[in-house]
Amino acid sequence: MKIHEFQAKEIFQKYNVPVPTGGVAFTPEEARSIADRLGGYPVVVKAQIHAGGRGKGGGVKLAHSLEEVGTIAGSILGMTLITHQTGPEGRLVQKVLVEQGLNIQKELYLSIVPDRSTAKIVVMASEAGGMDIEEVAEHTPEKIIRVHIDPLAGIQPYHCREVAFGLNLPPAAMKMLTAMLGNLYRMFLETDASLVEINPLVLTAEETVVALDAKVNFDDNGLFRHKDLLEYRDLDEEDPLEIEASQYNLNYINLDGNVGNMVNGAGLAMATMDIIKRAGAEPANFLDVGGGASAEMVENGFRIILSDKNVKGILINIFGGILRCDVLAQGVVEAAKKTNIGVPVVVRMEGTNVEEGRRILAESGLQLITAVDLKDAAGKVAEIVNA
Ligand code: GDP
Ligand code: MN
Repeated sequence: MKIHEFQAKEIFQKYNVPVPTGGVAFTPEEARSIADRLGGYPVVVKAQIHAGGRGKGGGVKLAHSLEEVGTIAGSILGMTLITHQTGPEGRLVQKVLVEQGLNIQKELYLSIVPDRSTAKIVVMASEAGGMDIEEVAEHTPEKIIRVHIDPLAGIQPYHCREVAFGLNLPPAAMKMLTAMLGNLYRMFLETDASLVEINPLVLTAEETVVALDAKVNFDDNGLFRHKDLLEYRDLDEEDPLEIEASQYNLNYINLDGNVGNMVNGAGLAMATMDIIKRAGAEPANFLDVGGGASAEMVENGFRIILSDKNVKGILINIFGGILRCDVLAQGVVEAAKKTNIGVPVVVRMEGTNVEEGRRILAESGLQLITAVDLKDAAGKVAEIVNA
């Protein structure tokens, strides 16, 4: 689960990680009243969306008067912000964070993520912070410090010193960073985070270190034990089809292509997407209806695929194991009765009760295209969408 910068900063404050003073606003008037309570100018107005790169996209602006706070907030609120992380369609901005501007001496980078290859937690830091850490990682990887922490032993003072020395901080700031890193690490563990990233972490002119930006993601599998964090979920930032699918316990992810596909099992779904691509087409979604799907789940999945306007053809690829082929066929027929299927559907089905499943489909009166195997199915659906 992703959260907003202002929410991440609320959590930072609970863990004594220094952040600029500020508040979140939904209207220019609210933005002005927050700015009025801060200690002078400049004041920073920042678009709150679940995507980075806002600075470059025009979603982070400095205001030098109360009036300017109002005009800037007015122009950012309601804008469709396009950044390298939003895709070309951009994201509607519905709230802004209004913060005290800082005297920046230097922009640094700091993050904590799990490192699966070493089964450790890695702290990454760099003196080359600011907006382009991806560029730094690609062209000058030696500028990124990596400190691995054994999760069983926990973070030790020498880990923190290694990071602080690596960042070439002045002594007072070094002490501050050491304390801050310990707190961030504790937050990372206690909240079941999968990412904590501060870019930039700033060294101010007063030689303090402050988290100017904050990005936190949580492991969805840990959320059941963090009811308080679930309050931070913002459905406005999520794909409506994915929200609907999650209500039916379907593993659905919306993608850019035009071949809708329904598959049972995540591995088979991944393989199906590969084969669709190999046949020269692009998948419109990932959908794993699960091993034990009911006819109702199949029906809901089918309806969700069809409500994606980009879909020009559908490939159903089912290996009947626990999900029997007759149950699947029943679900497809039910869905077809209730929705108007305006696109061709190719079916490849094997396994338990396959004969019964084929009979249900054949007698349904639906215009279905059957395939003998997966390659044949992908070829047929690719031919349809590329015609
Ligand atoms: P992102 O572009 O979405 O990652 O948003 P950030 O929160 O990182 O802001 C982008 C950039 O805006 C930062 O790298 C800073 O250069 C600038 N910025 C943000 N807050 C302040 C501030 O308080 N003072 C000044 N001078 N610049 C700021
Ligand atoms: Mn940033």
